[in-house]
Amino acid sequence: ASHGRADLLADLNPAQAEAVTHTGAPLLVVAGAGSGKTRVLTRRIAYLLAERGAHPGQIMAITFTNKAAAEMRERVADLVGRRANAMWVSTFHSMCVRLLRREAKTLGMSSSFSIYDADDTRRLITLVARDLDIDAKRYPARTLAVHISNLKNELVDAESAAAAATNDLERRVAEVYAEYQRRLVLANAMDFDDLIMRSVGLLQTFPDVAEYYRRRFRHVLVDEYQDTNHAQYTLVRELVGVEPTESGVEPSELCVVGDADQSIYAFRGATIRNIEEFERDFPNTRTILLEQNYRSTQTILSAANAVISRNPNRRDKRLWTDSGEGEKIGGYVADNEHDEAAFVAGEIDALADRGEARYSDVAVFYRTNNQSRVFEEIFIRLGLPYRVVGGVRFYERREVRDALAYLRVIANPEDTVSLRRILNVPKRGIGERAEAVVAAHAEQERISFAAALREAVEGRVALLNPRSARAITGFVELLDGFQALADEGAEVADILEAVMERTGYRAELDESDDPQDASRLENLDELITVAREFTESAAEVPGAAEDEDAGVPQAGSLAAFLERVSLVADADSIPTPDGEDDQDDAGVVTLMTVHTAKGLEYPVVFCTGWEDGVFPHLRALGEPAELAEERRLAYVAITRARKRVYLSRAITRSAWGQPMTNPASRFLDEIPAELIDWRREEPSSSAGSPRAATTWGRRSIGGDSAQAGLAGRGMRTTSFKGWQNTAALKLEVGDRVSHDKYGLGTVVEADGDGPRATATIDFGGSGRVKLMLLGSVPMVKL
Ligand code: ATP
Ligand code: MG
Repeated sequence: ASHGRADLLADLNPAQAEAVTHTGAPLLVVAGAGSGKTRVLTRRIAYLLAERGAHPGQIMAITFTNKAAAEMRERVADLVGRRANAMWVSTFHSMCVRLLRREAKTLGMSSSFSIYDADDTRRLITLVARDLDIDAKRYPARTLAVHISNLKNELVDAESAAAAATNDLERRVAEVYAEYQRRLVLANAMDFDDLIMRSVGLLQTFPDVAEYYRRRFRHVLVDEYQDTNHAQYTLVRELVGVEPTESGVEPSELCVVGDADQSIYAFRGATIRNIEEFERDFPNTRTILLEQNYRSTQTILSAANAVISRNPNRRDKRLWTDSGEGEKIGGYVADNEHDEAAFVAGEIDALADRGEARYSDVAVFYRTNNQSRVFEEIFIRLGLPYRVVGGVRFYERREVRDALAYLRVIANPEDTVSLRRILNVPKRGIGERAEAVVAAHAEQERISFAAALREAVEGRVALLNPRSARAITGFVELLDGFQALADEGAEVADILEAVMERTGYRAELDESDDPQDASRLENLDELITVAREFTESAAEVPGAAEDEDAGVPQAGSLAAFLERVSLVADADSIPTPDGEDDQDDAGVVTLMTVHTAKGLEYPVVFCTGWEDGVFPHLRALGEPAELAEERRLAYVAITRARKRVYLSRAITRSAWGQPMTNPASRFLDEIPAELIDWRREEPSSSAGSPRAATTWGRRSIGGDSAQAGLAGRGMRTTSFKGWQNTAALKLEVGDRVSHDKYGLGTVVEADGDGPRATATIDFGGSGRVKLMLLGSVPMVKL
């Protein structure tokens, strides 16, 4: 090993070192934010490999987000190099997918199962509820989905749910649950909660399988343990065991780290019970507390502490730092959300100008995803490079979902939700009636929808008219063609191209006059690019081809691509559809929700929208339990910062097209006044008056404040949607443009006229040169 023991322990404090070197009994590390929990976890892995003779293949590390998993893999690779590849480092969901694909045979299912995300799930539940004649007004699909998900998180199956039901809602839920589950199985699909629940089931039902994994993974490490739900806790317990197996395999070594004050996923069933009762769940636990914070200044810690200490029933922690008082918190009261965004942008620019922070040092947090738009608008206008993390919007677009549905059907022909989605997309004469006839036939024969379609081709679906039957035959043949392509090992991008061509999907968009359709084409091209890059990067990963796990999709394969897309669209997301991080020095500003920021750190953090009704969320105001969760969220937000925190709020903010006036967040009032340096504490005389945030802001954004005033009166979409109507953006060589996604660019070539005009644009900073159809790209000329 290249790292000696002393090396690995040199930059740890005694408590951390103890956690890293601890051997044997279960280990629980509980400590506040920034105290080095994640560092302990990664270092422990390195120590296991270097000093305790563990093989990478014996290690399983679980993180909460894909981003954190990637970061951990990277940190470990820095320490141990290529050997890191044999470890399992992933989120719970990815780990379970891997486990289930390997063990699909044991479970009697195909390893090519589809993963249904929230949208697919809701679609299927809608279908089921309709078939069961459930009143959609009284029990909307969304409600049913939440209840079913909660049951799964508690490992309650449909039968037990039915047995335990005591009121009409619970009975309905149990009924839908049972049928939903039956259809999932028929469709060879699993939803996110199934991934965990089925994995638990696998280990509990097949002791020999459980033993195999226990032998294999001698070390299991879990980060952010406070956010595990009951199903995940059980999974961990089944993996490591608490007693030797019959054939004498000892429990694996378990190490979990967490902070009850950072538990922010109660809405997904996370429970701090798991951390609080760890010592009871796992006998002989060694518990280690870490008390030194290495991340933040004293000012930041004091502010975070002031907020979290208001929560009832918590264990108080002593967290100290020797990094000094540091800067005061920058406070700002904005007239409205546009003014707030202008302040943030202005401040970032000023910091960059003064050389105090690079763009990549800065993160902007908000409570909910929809708050990002205002920031994006102003960042685009000002040419501030940024990226939005956790924006799954790309994968939510209709055309992208359509294309992915084709791929999913190719990978898993039984996938009903995807199959029904594309049945008549683009239109091919299979109308709703025909679909209903086929669905009824499937129901009656207790076969899958896919099987029913095949029977329709063979003329065995009585009520189908000949024209529909012919259309179905054409459709099935089309799918068979794609399947053949996939079987021959075609690349994902080529399959996508074939789908777009042969189905006529591209032609339909091409021929359309709707400017929206031009941008749809662009998104599809983007998806094809994502697929190409995916295949290329799979080819580059050292050792990727050496993964001999049976059932794991081959690197770069269609199944692997779909798996990644599904899991990426889960909680967090790859930064941009094209996935690449900007490598230039200044980097980009990161925008994200507080939830996504968990575990991360940035020198400069802007916490925005600190208003009662926004943060804390409206829903939490009268609910002590939810308010406590919001407070933990505030604690997470503040403690992400290393050097500087800004806290801002807006007097008015549009919500549902109406300007709302919100009081200051109660969390703001809880922070001692002497910690905050208010840049502006009183709103300007009238909301929306042209008083810009900073000198710089006033200069660059000119009429913007006036526009902000308009937006404050409900015109939410005026400012940057203009491009949708400017079908003919006229560009000449040398023009400067600003693109929604790629930022600032210069036109190096221009061609054609009208909606078909194209231009080649050099987006200098990010090193990308792109040819674009100008029809309706999200771009403005500067
Ligand atoms: P969170 O609760 O937010 O997840 P954490 O407890 O996991 O935080 P880390 O992210 O591991 O904390 O560490 C916070 C920062 O402190 C990191 O930049 C880390 O490198 C640094 N750090 C941790 N321990 C030490 C140490 N002993 N010496 C120097 N720096 C340290
Ligand atoms: Mg951490």
